[in-house]
Amino acid sequence: MTPALAHVTTWIFDLDNTLYPPESRLEDEVVNRMVCYTAGRFNLGIQASKDMVYQHHVKHGATVIGYYEDHGVEPEHFLTFAYWDVPLEKLNEWRDSAELAEVRSRIAALPGRKLVFTNGTRYHAERVLSYLGMRELFDDIIDIADGDYRPKPQMPMYTSLMRRYGVDPKRSAFVEDSAKNLTTAKELGMYTVLVNRPGTPTDQTVDASAPSLLDWLRQAA
Ligand SMILES: [Mg+2]
Repeated sequence: MTPALAHVTTWIFDLDNTLYPPESRLEDEVVNRMVCYTAGRFNLGIQASKDMVYQHHVKHGATVIGYYEDHGVEPEHFLTFAYWDVPLEKLNEWRDSAELAEVRSRIAALPGRKLVFTNGTRYHAERVLSYLGMRELFDDIIDIADGDYRPKPQMPMYTSLMRRYGVDPKRSAFVEDSAKNLTTAKELGMYTVLVNRPGTPTDQTVDASAPSLLDWLRQAA
């Protein structure tokens, strides 16, 4: 283990676009379902529905909490629809790759507890992790319901994570594809890692970055 990570006892991973490459475009499927839900629930056309999903995402950090606060939409109803039967075949290239096999063995070799920390749902995380043969690598999943639907980078998700698992942020590393979600982690004292993003971040909130998850896991070893 590289000296910068010798203190880490809890390894926290984002799910979407972190544990699989963004090129699979799986999240597009979730957004499409949110648009369909919006069209039906609010009796809107497709473009107006897309705009509504996007605007609530921007304003609230996640469409689910925006719909709840502005329109009284039940979060579980919305999220069940949004993540229902997302076609995991889009992950086939990654699932069958030598890179994923190496990622799995390198995550397995990290010493300590491993958690998945997602703005999506537990149901979705369980499905994706099982499909990729990664479920057994992780001790548990913390999802958006655990943070009362206030998404990363808002504090409730992190508070829930720390309370539930007794996580000491100063002995944790958090791996993400969103620099924004690392800001809160950094404030709390976590070691922050940005992956699957092109370019080199100049952001002070990023301790390490790599073009891919596998590249970072190789660096970390
Ligand atoms: Mg992500």
